[in-house]
Amino acid sequence: MRKTVKYCAVYPGTFDPLTLGHLHIVKRGLTHFDTIVIACSVGEHKHTLFSLEERLNLLRQCFKPFGKRVVIDSFDMLLVHYLQQQKIHTILRGIRTVGDFEYEHQMSLANRTLDPKIETVFMLTDDHYSHLSSSLIKEIAALGGNVGAMVPTAVAKALKSKLPKRVKS
Ligand code: ADP
Repeated sequence: MRKTVKYCAVYPGTFDPLTLGHLHIVKRGLTHFDTIVIACSVGEHKHTLFSLEERLNLLRQCFKPFGKRVVIDSFDMLLVHYLQQQKIHTILRGIRTVGDFEYEHQMSLANRTLDPKIETVFMLTDDHYSHLSSSLIKEIAALGGNVGAMVPTAVAKALKSKLPKRVKS
C-alpha cells in the first residue's frame, strides 16, 4: 500500500553543544519518523556557551549527511506554540536517567494540558550515551579533557576554539 501520511517529530533542545547522545537519538528517531525537525531553543535564560548561530551551524554541519529528513530550526516561544505553528503533533525526547524522567514526565503532562493533540515520544538513551550531557562535556573541555569520544568532530573543534587555553586534542 502506498504511504501518504508523513510522520514528523520535533526534537527540541538547547544543544549547547550537540553531543553523540543527541545524534544517536535522531538516528534512531529516523527509523520511526520520516522527518525530524531539530528545534534549537534560543535559550536566552540559559547563558549558553555557544551563541544560537554557532549552535545552529554545528547542527547543520553534523546533520548534513542525513539530507532533507533532518531539518534544523530554532524557536523562541512556548514549545507547544512552535509545534502548532509547524503543524506537527509529536515531540521526541531522550531519557537518560530517572532524573530526566521526572522532569520529562512533568513537561509532557504540561504540554498535553496546553494542547491535548500533542504527544511526547520518549526514547531511552543507549547505554553508551547515558552519561553524556552538554554541561558535563563543557566542564571537561574547560578543564582540558579530551571530549573527542563524546561529541562529533566539528563540536570538539568548536569547543577547542572557544576554550583555547586548556583543551587538549
Ligand atoms: P534541554 O535539556 O535544554 O531540553 P538538551 O540539549 O540538553 O536540551 O537535550 C535535548 C534532548 O536530548 C532532551 O530530550 C534530552 O533528554 C536529550 N538528551 C540529552 N543528552 C542526551 C544523551 N546523552 N543521550 C540521549 N539523549 C540525550
